[in-house]
Amino acid sequence: MAVSSSSSSSVHQVASQSLWSTVNPKTMPHLVSFSGLKQVVDNTFETPKVRVLKQKMELLGISLENSCLPGQYHNLFCPKCKGGQLKERSLSFHIISDGEFAMWRCFRVECGWAGQSFADDKDLYSGDCANAKSYRQIAEESLGLEPLGAKLVAYFRERLISEKTLRRNAVRQLSDNKAVIAFTYKQNGLLVGCKYRTIEKRFWQGKGTEKILYGIDDIGQASEIIIVEGEIDKLSLEEAGFQNCVSVPVGAPGKVSSKDLPPIEKDTAFQYLWNCKEYLDKAVRIILATDNDPPGQALAEELARRLGRERCWRVLWPKKDEFNYFKDANEVLKYMGADALKKIVDDAEPYTNAN
Ligand SMILES: [Zn+2]
Repeated sequence: MAVSSSSSSSVHQVASQSLWSTVNPKTMPHLVSFSGLKQVVDNTFETPKVRVLKQKMELLGISLENSCLPGQYHNLFCPKCKGGQLKERSLSFHIISDGEFAMWRCFRVECGWAGQSFADDKDLYSGDCANAKSYRQIAEESLGLEPLGAKLVAYFRERLISEKTLRRNAVRQLSDNKAVIAFTYKQNGLLVGCKYRTIEKRFWQGKGTEKILYGIDDIGQASEIIIVEGEIDKLSLEEAGFQNCVSVPVGAPGKVSSKDLPPIEKDTAFQYLWNCKEYLDKAVRIILATDNDPPGQALAEELARRLGRERCWRVLWPKKDEFNYFKDANEVLKYMGADALKKIVDDAEPYTNAN
């Protein structure tokens, strides 16, 4: 039984970086039992139900590849629109954890193909449908997510993030480990990824999450956008009145690359930018509010050289005391308040390469 290879495909491990620790799913069974690993061990993937679903999907042109575990969402190629010009993996696909049925929806607005199919011989239903809401609920429940409980609400309150902001951004927790925050990544309202964070600042993420900006639906119509370096910084800016903000999904690079920009298809570390290009292209002003440390500065530079320096602005984090500067949006919110954070962002300066 190929448990190890299956588990590595179901939980994408974050590359080890300064703030990011690699999580070995096998040493943290209590944290990953929701994710389908248990089912892998039980061999549910091979159940007759899943085999039936797989065959039905193939008839519809949905290729499940090898990674379609029940209880997880997957981003697949949509057979209807083929992902448009950018060839996005736009089909959010999900088999519920008991293998009873599969459901899918293409998050490209131009397409929106959706349907569901049962493992037993109930009628196959496929076509446009208006049940995005139930898809959303089922996908979240099946991933083992639930609304934040008192403990994590208090954790965020300490960071001056309100329940209103948490609700609007659909921040959740794991139902079987109530100390794990789940940042839901959505596109056109559909769950396309999820990043998990323990109170001790350990991170890991569902497969595909590294491919999209967090909060992308908030910049759909924005001509001015803000890019931050973490989900909590996005929530912090919302407290200061800015909803037109997205966070990068992965940590900052150690340093600015000395090489020329790679072609888009080889620019793997920044796929999330290219995948969101249609959104970013609309922005005439992009405020970079990355962390005030060397990796944060390197990230700002890497973003600016891809987005075009001429439309980039840079937030300058103020001094905390004689020797230190504030590190990020949440720190400013906590120590200086929402109005001060708003002013600091409003006072962003035209981007110049500091390196
Ligand atoms: Zn489609």
